[in-house]
Amino acid sequence: MTNLTNLTITEALKGLSAKDFSAMDITNAHIDAMAAAKDLNCFITETPELALEQAKASDKRRASGDALALDGIPIAMKDLFCTKGVQTTAASHILEGFVPQYESTVSQKLLDAGTITLGKANLDEFAMGSSNTSSYFGNVISPWRDDSGADLVPGGSSGGSAAAVAARISMAATGTDTGGSIRQPAAFCGITGMKPTYGRCSRWGVVAFASSLDQPGAFGRSVEDTALLLQAMSGHDPKDSTSANLPVPDFAAALTGDIKGLKIGIPKEYRVDGMPEEIETEWQKGIDMLKNAGAEIVDISLPHTKYALPVYYVIAPAECSSNLARYDGVRYGLRVEGEDLNATYENTRAEGFGDEVKRRIMIGTYALSSGYYDAYYIKAQKVRRLISQDFMSAFEKCDALLTPTAPSAAFAIGENEDDPIKMYLNDVFTVPASLAGLPGMSVPTSLNAKGLPLGLQILGRPWDEETVLRVGGVLESAANFTAIPNINAKIAA
Ligand code: GLN
Repeated sequence: MTNLTNLTITEALKGLSAKDFSAMDITNAHIDAMAAAKDLNCFITETPELALEQAKASDKRRASGDALALDGIPIAMKDLFCTKGVQTTAASHILEGFVPQYESTVSQKLLDAGTITLGKANLDEFAMGSSNTSSYFGNVISPWRDDSGADLVPGGSSGGSAAAVAARISMAATGTDTGGSIRQPAAFCGITGMKPTYGRCSRWGVVAFASSLDQPGAFGRSVEDTALLLQAMSGHDPKDSTSANLPVPDFAAALTGDIKGLKIGIPKEYRVDGMPEEIETEWQKGIDMLKNAGAEIVDISLPHTKYALPVYYVIAPAECSSNLARYDGVRYGLRVEGEDLNATYENTRAEGFGDEVKRRIMIGTYALSSGYYDAYYIKAQKVRRLISQDFMSAFEKCDALLTPTAPSAAFAIGENEDDPIKMYLNDVFTVPASLAGLPGMSVPTSLNAKGLPLGLQILGRPWDEETVLRVGGVLESAANFTAIPNINAKIAA
């Protein structure tokens, strides 16, 4: 019997239409995998009953010849997407018990494509983090381990989604990426993750962190799977004013395997001080792979790169402080009574938010306060424009960029914890593209000497996900990354 939890979406769809197995079979196999891997804490809310109901309906549709694009494919939904009738927490105590009355556009599109929802995946609180250690509902543990035996982070903020896909609990998953939250966990977990152009997927019904940066995207175990999931998630939504009214190309068709003559830019500013040698080597390997496949490698410069992290850590907290002002104990989730209304606000927010979220609300409120607004927020927006312009000039000389996804492999849980700046440095390669709204993807390419996955990032022009996917497909074939984490060893330990 086929191992149903190790299939790609493409393989599963083939088997389903050949009646080798049913959506019910696939769903049951994944529910079992989810139960066996509870220790990894990938989910905040598991929804096996709902999944079985959806699987039953899926099999019925297929039997009557009405199968949908992704009918019967089990996925994990990052717990930042509002799901009607299913608790949505953003991994925060302040939203514990919040059951939305509506479905986010992206999750609705996935339901309309016939996917099966296994549950709501764990994340960093309000998607703020790079390690999935700030969730009120506990850390996510990576299914990977090195010889130290320590529990490792899956990356973040979409850590539960990435870990579930890597651990063969879920065939694919949704994520959101504000500064790297899809690409970095994909790299840490040895899977593929793509953030499309800002505006490609609707943000309606996605709990907001930093609205000018937040963008839904997809995780898969192959570039093609990622393309298929992203396809179902994309498209114009009149309910989100920043959603683009543009046709969505056929993403999977972009995987032609041919990058001859394509110009791949290598930004010299991404050779950052203190970058471990294994990352440098991996990057060079990727450059050689693309060159061997017929691409032309060009050196480019993104001179404002060094300002990207400081700019991001003004803009993202500023927008977060404004977005999170709505959690007041009156409208959603937690309420901690005080003597009067102000005390109720204070008590609710003091108890409801974790340390990292509070830190960002304070930084953001400070940056937006009168007298500082021009000096910090406006200045950051101006530099953001320069960062975008760097990319636009680079794209006059090349069609896509290749960089490392993260400056290291996964680290141990607890490491970097008392040094927020060190934690923020994780996003050094992902944040610039977020500020410019560009599409980006991480593709797993190797295991390092300790047996942990490394990934490379491909960035493209706005609305040109197709080139990113095409390059990603070629890198995937050349790298031939087939390693799977030994989750039994992890669970037994
Ligand atoms: N790690 C970054 C942060 O903490 C990015 C998070 C994200 O993309 N949601 O803000």
